[in-house]
Amino acid sequence: MKKNIRKILIANRGEIAIRVMKTCRAMGIRSVAVFSDADRGSPYLRDADETFHIGPSTARESYLNQEKILTVARTSGADAIHPGYGFLSENPQFVEAVEKTGLVFIGPSSASIRTLGDKTSARAIARQIGIPVVPGSDGSITSPGQALDVARTIGFPVLLKAAAGGGGKGMRVVREEGELAAAFKMATSEAASSFSDDRVYLEKYILNPRHVEVQILADAHGNVIHLGERECSIQRRHQKIIEESPSPAMNDTLRAGLTKSAVNLAAHVGYTNAGTVEFIVDESGDYFFMEVNTRLQVEHPVTEMRTGLDLVREQIIIAGGGRLSLKQEDVTFDGHSLECRIYAEDSANNFSPFIGTIGHVLHPSGAGIRLDTGIESGSRISAHYDPMISKVITHGSSRREALALMAGALERYEIYGVKTNLDLLIWVINHPEFSSGIFDTNFLGRNYRPEMFDRIPAEVAELAAHVAALVHLRAEDRVRLCAEVHDASWTSRRSDYLR
Ligand code: ADP
Ligand code: ADP
Ligand code: MG
Repeated sequence: MKKNIRKILIANRGEIAIRVMKTCRAMGIRSVAVFSDADRGSPYLRDADETFHIGPSTARESYLNQEKILTVARTSGADAIHPGYGFLSENPQFVEAVEKTGLVFIGPSSASIRTLGDKTSARAIARQIGIPVVPGSDGSITSPGQALDVARTIGFPVLLKAAAGGGGKGMRVVREEGELAAAFKMATSEAASSFSDDRVYLEKYILNPRHVEVQILADAHGNVIHLGERECSIQRRHQKIIEESPSPAMNDTLRAGLTKSAVNLAAHVGYTNAGTVEFIVDESGDYFFMEVNTRLQVEHPVTEMRTGLDLVREQIIIAGGGRLSLKQEDVTFDGHSLECRIYAEDSANNFSPFIGTIGHVLHPSGAGIRLDTGIESGSRISAHYDPMISKVITHGSSRREALALMAGALERYEIYGVKTNLDLLIWVINHPEFSSGIFDTNFLGRNYRPEMFDRIPAEVAELAAHVAALVHLRAEDRVRLCAEVHDASWTSRRSDYLR
């Protein structure tokens, strides 16, 4: 049934709220933004037609508060809810509640999220229809004894994973039998506390694999298409930091296998809307299904740059009961696109989030560069939410061109007041192994040493920003002061690793 969507509530914040509202404007749809105490005055609220306060800073009491969000949807007269990513985007109870109120959820059905969001049931379905899955347990593991049986069958090392996990959290590598019982206990309690679901399962830990995923779109009229693959092997803490499309390690046979598997899986479960099927490719080039993300992905821009499509627009059309705006044979791929995720974090200290105020930021811009962010000078990185500052996306006619654009954009980026992973990203982008295109998820494990990044006196830069702010320096003097402190440290250490 076709539904007219005229007003969308975005149940999210920051960068992704801005991204969704951009498409709303282009489609003549009104937008409703929600905010917590911590987000009062945030840039994304300026882009919304209406804004509603939904509670205290903790996510549980605001962005995860289903009742509050549904109440705002009712009072604002929104016809649809876009969940962005994270928060409630993959929560089947929430989607069910949205469906019950007669509102449109811009994403798949609650039934699809229930089947595919649970990683063990998604594995079972993939296996049923003949898609190779990572060797591991059938369903979840309920005792250390069972874990040991499965581990002995598939061989060590193994990976314990939370059935409800996401964002790289809830994973534990186990290298030998003696560690398994304790690891099982810890993984179970971590899963319970992080995801309110203590179920864990077991997979063979594949050594030096690549993470390659396929973007799919499906409408309610039986049309399923794919938009090619994304290579996401540069990761820290099992979470992506650099993504690109196409994958530099692709051949036609592998691409055909991956895309066909992804489309078949979506068609088999009657999936609708945008989704991503994630695979792991081992050193011999064999691929295995890993999981499905039943939402818009953080790295969707690289696919948009290459295909010229607006994925949020497709999501809205599909959710409204419309047909996909194109067929598989009409999808075209142009050039190469790369994305770097800029995080406020400490590259020398286990990539831990860096909380603080951004005294000054100047985002790079220019031809071939797209910048998605919800941060401006004065924005605060709070402990309550994800510490991502922005995504820099470049698009060129070749990988080499996209890389050169990225190197330039990252070099020009000015962020003072918090530690960021900018230096780490610049190092990766310039690393010969990365430029060669032959790398895997163990790139950092193999090449990175915390000492390479531990002389960055961000505290000094932060102090400079504070002092400058206190003495009411003119904005440009403040920038110069921060830049001088930063440049002095940067010049002294860049020669260490940029050769
Ligand atoms: P993607 O899977 O889109 O590449 P991430 O894995 O980084 O990106 O997840 C997207 C966002 O959602 C991040 O902010 C991450 O912290 C958050 N997230 C994803 N899944 C979960 C989850 N199950 N629990 C908590 N946060 C999650
Ligand atoms: P999440 O839901 O947190 O995204 P995934 O199952 O997608 O969890 O795994 C995240 C990352 O962890 C993968 O991209 C990959 O780098 C690593 N990983 C997951 N499963 C395996 C495995 N069986 N072997 C090796 N690495 C894995
Ligand atoms: Mg994943």
